[in-house]
Amino acid sequence: MKKKTIAVFIRNKSAAESIGSFFKGSKLFRPQYYSSAESLLKSADGKDISAILIEDSLIQLIRDRTSDVPVLSLITGSREQGIENAIACKADLYVYRPFLEKDLICKLQTLIQNRESAEDMKQELHNLRIIIEIARLISSTLDPQELLFRMVSKIAEVIPVSRCSIIRTDWLSRNAHVVASFEVPNIQAIRLNLKKYPEVVEALQKKKPVFIKDTGTDPIMKSVRESLAPLGIRSILVMPIFFKEKIIGTLFLRTSRKNHAFSESEIKLLKTISELSSNILHNAFLYTQVEDEKTRLEQLSITDFLTGIYNIRYFYHRLVEEFGRSERYSLPISCLMLDIDYFKRINDTYGHKTGDAVLKEFSALLKRFSRQSDVPARYGGEEFIVMLPHTSLDGAIAEAERLRLAIKQHKFKSLKNKDRITISIGISTFPNHKIKTHDNLISAADDALYQAKNSGRDRYSVFG
Ligand code: GH3
Ligand code: MG
Ligand code: MG
Repeated sequence: MKKKTIAVFIRNKSAAESIGSFFKGSKLFRPQYYSSAESLLKSADGKDISAILIEDSLIQLIRDRTSDVPVLSLITGSREQGIENAIACKADLYVYRPFLEKDLICKLQTLIQNRESAEDMKQELHNLRIIIEIARLISSTLDPQELLFRMVSKIAEVIPVSRCSIIRTDWLSRNAHVVASFEVPNIQAIRLNLKKYPEVVEALQKKKPVFIKDTGTDPIMKSVRESLAPLGIRSILVMPIFFKEKIIGTLFLRTSRKNHAFSESEIKLLKTISELSSNILHNAFLYTQVEDEKTRLEQLSITDFLTGIYNIRYFYHRLVEEFGRSERYSLPISCLMLDIDYFKRINDTYGHKTGDAVLKEFSALLKRFSRQSDVPARYGGEEFIVMLPHTSLDGAIAEAERLRLAIKQHKFKSLKNKDRITISIGISTFPNHKIKTHDNLISAADDALYQAKNSGRDRYSVFG
């Protein structure tokens, strides 16, 4: 066991001598000598000192102390005066000189133990208060997303950490999502790459809390040590959340604290929180899962199955909106109709499957080279369409040329080294006296595309 440090402040020479020899032989205590009340009071504020041993005639000097370090008064002179002083200056106990070693040991130990139990009780009380607050949160009618965020905020408030999250997990499908994070309010479930979180995997596999005291030395962290180093994360705590004996998620705390990374009491508190809230977290997780699925379905219904860019249905919906806005506010709007030149040749030479792969890569290029405000979509087969809101003819021509050249120069992964593909583009722009509706805008671009094909391909043509 570690020796407890006792602050000693004694001026009486012979008393100092007998105390000195008492500590010399002690396996339990380590003395720290002081020669002034100021320096003693200064260090007695810290956690390092377990008790103060002070001569009764000096105790007046620390009468106004604010620290709760226990004080043992050593009565060297008149007993009556010594006791009076001890009471007046709130000493916790006193011993007479000459003292019995056993008596002094017993009194110091009593003081230290009392203080430790008082501190434990204070900590327990503090934890109980937090548990009550969390219980209150759980029984409130917050929406699940908000509830998750409040929970991480509360935890981060009482346990000083740099990062605190709740992770939803499904170990069967090896899926993990961050569903709440103290650092990022309003988080949308973010998929975690479990390869980068061996400590989370460990907790899921062993079905136990995982406590990494030092990420720099713990063997579990070996594979990610280097990438973790710049983040300054020192200690990690992963606390599983069980629902009907199955792990449904974890609390995930990380800190850069050097000493006492997570105290026993903090770990116990987190365990209670995870047990207490497992039911409600289960519900909140289901909710976030349904929300994710909803977003995924919404995404699916607006994207083209093969290429992953917008489908024509979504394009049409946006065109109606944007065309209406252009009419109302007299803003220009343009449309590009693109068709891959001689695409049959690609299918004939490489097969239909490669043709599909080329269409996918082509779509990715189209997406990459369009502007943020553009709406590129697959029109059908190897034809594509791009809506350019707020864009006049000049802008549309510039964009068409940019796209044409980017495609022409691109080396497609599945085609032979020198093989390139080109596109023809039809451009239409509103306002134009022949374009009255959004449908007109599309068919005008189609007409222009026909002209581009007829006049030799690998070029753009403007309607009208
Ligand atoms: P051009 O447009 O220059 O006149 O020549 P083209 O060879 O591209 O002619 P066309 O537009 O008539 O033919 C398009 C070909 O694209 C026909 C069809 O087999 C192929 N195609 C259309 N959709 C797909 C698809 O989803 N996957 C694959 N692999 N091929 C497709
Ligand atoms: Mg074609
Ligand atoms: Mg075609």
